[in-house]
Amino acid sequence: MDSPYGFDTLQIHAGARPDPATGARQTPIYQTTSYVFRDADHAAALFNLQEIGYIYSRLTNPTVSVLQERLATLEGGVGGVCCSSGHAAQLMALFPLMAPGRNVVSSSRLYGGTVTQFSQTIKRFGWSAKFVDTDDLDAVKAAIDEDTRAIFCESIANPGGYITDLDAIAKIADEAGLPLIVDNTTATPYLCRPIEHGATLVVHSTTKYLTGNGTVTGGVVIDNGRFDWSASDKFPSLSQPEPAYHGLKFHETFGHLAFTFHSIAIGLRDLGMTMNPQAAHYTLMGIETLSLRMQKHVENAVKVATWLENDPRVEYVTYAGLPSSPYHGRMAKICPKGASSLFTFALKGGYEACVKFVDGLNLFSHVANLGDTRSLVIHSASTTHRQLTEEQQKAAGAAPNVIRLSIGLEDADDLIRDLDEALAAASA
Ligand SMILES: *Cc1c(COP(=O)(O)O)cnc(C)c1O
Repeated sequence: MDSPYGFDTLQIHAGARPDPATGARQTPIYQTTSYVFRDADHAAALFNLQEIGYIYSRLTNPTVSVLQERLATLEGGVGGVCCSSGHAAQLMALFPLMAPGRNVVSSSRLYGGTVTQFSQTIKRFGWSAKFVDTDDLDAVKAAIDEDTRAIFCESIANPGGYITDLDAIAKIADEAGLPLIVDNTTATPYLCRPIEHGATLVVHSTTKYLTGNGTVTGGVVIDNGRFDWSASDKFPSLSQPEPAYHGLKFHETFGHLAFTFHSIAIGLRDLGMTMNPQAAHYTLMGIETLSLRMQKHVENAVKVATWLENDPRVEYVTYAGLPSSPYHGRMAKICPKGASSLFTFALKGGYEACVKFVDGLNLFSHVANLGDTRSLVIHSASTTHRQLTEEQQKAAGAAPNVIRLSIGLEDADDLIRDLDEALAAASA
């Protein structure tokens, strides 16, 4: 972090300053779509990207700008672009890099929705994903071909809370002249800062821990500003003349901000996956307490996972924060302050017991979300993964007897009592 301030200070102050018009201390919600130009020359300069300023809220908005700067600062990047959801952010991260026929080499351990986005939907653009186990470094290397334009992984991966060796993957990306994109949703910049481990771009679903209380969807793409887009002919959108801006070359003109400017001037302009200022406001409110919440998420997850691991009705627990986890050693390197609060566990009673268990819970909410103040549960095999065969479910870490938990901020003892009662109901 280049700033002289610590994380707790930056999560409250980065990007924000008293409102120049009113002195308002809290960041106002600039509920406006457009901004008055000073005169015709000013308008022309803005549209030509010769002067930076506000034109229209599909591109930029002052409330959203504060959030962008705050997130870029917390991640140690040079710029950020907020989007309407985490999935939008993933498309926005790939968009300047990809073209028909190009591929992204992606970890196979991913949020379920990302597996679908990458394996199905991006094909409509002529893009594709090659899925590999990122613990198998030779497989990652072997998957890269001359059409590969990025490597993608999650720092702490869904659903099991596995930790990726970001430094090792970044080294492979470096050697191949490719950017590494890391989805840091589950970890948040408080627990892990992927740029320090070699990531080029960091994406988030701000819907989760960053906002923190399940109110709004959002996403962000953050750029480390160090990738040389002109070193090869692989990234023409950034290195070659852009016809829509009279032949302007983004990398040559904007240097380390090339990716961020392209994402606004082309990505948001033409794809329109914009975050609205209300969503930015809620997320800014959440981030002010991020470190406090993550400490308690981790503390509760360790207590709950330890209790589950010692219960005879439970077959195994995947939480990397447990000393028994094969990923525990990697935690010290990638996320020493903790392994977040998302993990899975398997019930000895199988599918039927899982269904009864979920229905027997009172405090835990059965929802398709994570990273909330509330504790959440989902039985993937009967919900998000029910279309898959049992083999596919197992490969995805969602076998029929596996339950996913997102541990919230309640009293850990209350959560454990709720789990205990539901386990009793499931084995009755
Ligand atoms: C939720 C999630 C996404 C998708 O984000 P949305 O805001 O739901 O679009 C992507 N990656 C991870 C790790 C997630 O948890």
